[in-house]
Amino acid sequence: ENPEIASPVRTRAIMETYGLNFKKSLGQNFLTDINILHKIVTAGNVSENDDVIEVGPGIGALTEQLAKSAHRVLALEVDERLIPVLAETLNPYDNVTVILQDILKADLKELIKDNFDGKHPIKVVANLPYYITSPIILHLLDTKIDFSAIVVMMQKEVADRLSAQPGTKDYGALTTRIQYQMECKTAFIVPRTVFVPQPNVDSAIIVLTPLKERHLKPYSEEQLFDLVKGCFAHRRKSLWNNLQGIYGKEPEIKDKMQQVLAALQISPQIRAERLSIDEFILLANKLSEAKI
Ligand code: SAM
Repeated sequence: ENPEIASPVRTRAIMETYGLNFKKSLGQNFLTDINILHKIVTAGNVSENDDVIEVGPGIGALTEQLAKSAHRVLALEVDERLIPVLAETLNPYDNVTVILQDILKADLKELIKDNFDGKHPIKVVANLPYYITSPIILHLLDTKIDFSAIVVMMQKEVADRLSAQPGTKDYGALTTRIQYQMECKTAFIVPRTVFVPQPNVDSAIIVLTPLKERHLKPYSEEQLFDLVKGCFAHRRKSLWNNLQGIYGKEPEIKDKMQQVLAALQISPQIRAERLSIDEFILLANKLSEAKI
């Protein structure tokens, strides 16, 4: 019987057999440490009760471990060269489906309907291609699919931004966008040495779980997210400065904005990184009430 896919020796052997090189442009850094893979599956609490979507199976190292633990696995890979490889490496597992598909163009609702039975909670588990980490997570959240968990590996630097608290340098538009919907925890750090080829940075596994009901709701999520983006447009400038950047400098507008900030007891001179998500929601709603 073959050893696990996840070893440096077998990974290189598979790439050689198929005459493949690693595509940097697709973020191809493959995991070759079986212990890390076990830890990812454990962090996601993946059991035979779960259906799992994997983004970017590569040659199947993580897919194999998911297949052993989950009910069904649906893996989306954009690199067509890897499809025949995966057909061979995952041949022993009858609960895996691999689809040639760009995750950012995928209609996940449709794929879920076609591949899962609707009776199992759905998790996303992936070692993400780093060049599109944020777009992928935002795409997953935009679908509004009720994933029971999203367990993803990314650059440690991005993981720090996702799990940041207000008032820190890592807290920003991405933090608030994601924490608006999900609770965000770092499970563990992964050294660069366990990948082939080695990336230039260390990584972290992040576990996102759906937030229980928010007490405070924005009138419009779109308006809220636009406000947040605008408030962080120039991080080092004051909130007041950034608000004028969004809504303009006309005296009438400035007047209204001043009143809104005063009513919320928010000092115009602070930086946006001081505001909690609830404060952003209050601010968005008050601005909209003031017809700004
Ligand atoms: N899961 C494997 C592992 O852990 O060893 C490979 C992870 S590697 C960091 C990222 C994988 O995502 C690569 O296989 C790459 O081809 C794939 N990928 C890159 N862009 C993608 C996209 N837009 N949609 C789907 N897969 C993509």
